[in-house]
Amino acid sequence: MAASSSYFQIAFANFMVMEWIQDVQSYLDLVLQGGIPEEDRPKQCPHCGQKDQLLHRHGTYPRKVFTLEKEWTIPVFRFYCPLPTCKKTVCIIPSFIQKHQQVALDIQEEIIQSQDEGESLAALSKKTGSLPGGSYSEKTLWRWTKGWKVRLDGFEGKVWEWILVRFPHLSLLEGQTFSKWKWFFKLWEQIQKRQTEFKNVPFLHWFHRFSRS
Ligand SMILES: [Zn+2]
Repeated sequence: MAASSSYFQIAFANFMVMEWIQDVQSYLDLVLQGGIPEEDRPKQCPHCGQKDQLLHRHGTYPRKVFTLEKEWTIPVFRFYCPLPTCKKTVCIIPSFIQKHQQVALDIQEEIIQSQDEGESLAALSKKTGSLPGGSYSEKTLWRWTKGWKVRLDGFEGKVWEWILVRFPHLSLLEGQTFSKWKWFFKLWEQIQKRQTEFKNVPFLHWFHRFSRS
């Protein structure tokens, strides 16, 4: 596995998001062999900004994660800054979840897609009874869909730019009118066919990393 050596720093300095694109199983396969690989330790303290000393390992804590298939318990790795003036800790969370959530992004993408196709949140909430961790209330589903919409609105231009620079020859489905989400889901399908590294990566998973970079 080519674990990349950089992290996205996010606004809340006590968490950093892993850059790797991975599902839960490949995360576990990797970290259960000896934790976060040496080359992937945080290179910079998100609190004080120092880059001179590697952050030290500082144990793990267990965290529940729900995906479309099942419930998992994963270790989340903690590090701390060795500078005496800092000494703060940071957790490295894998990119398939958001920082304070147990519900993986594949579930949230499913909800966004269904709502975008016209299903009501009330109906969707009922259906989530069969999902791991479910059922999820209408209010929870509203929070997810609203939160992602706000993020997509903020990053729409940058996502288009990213796509058009890398994939200038994508068929842009001319003359079609789609919702914003549908445009990106459709284009993402084309991108997945062209670039194998994205083959098993849901759009939302990629977008989560992208919008935190
Ligand atoms: Zn520090």
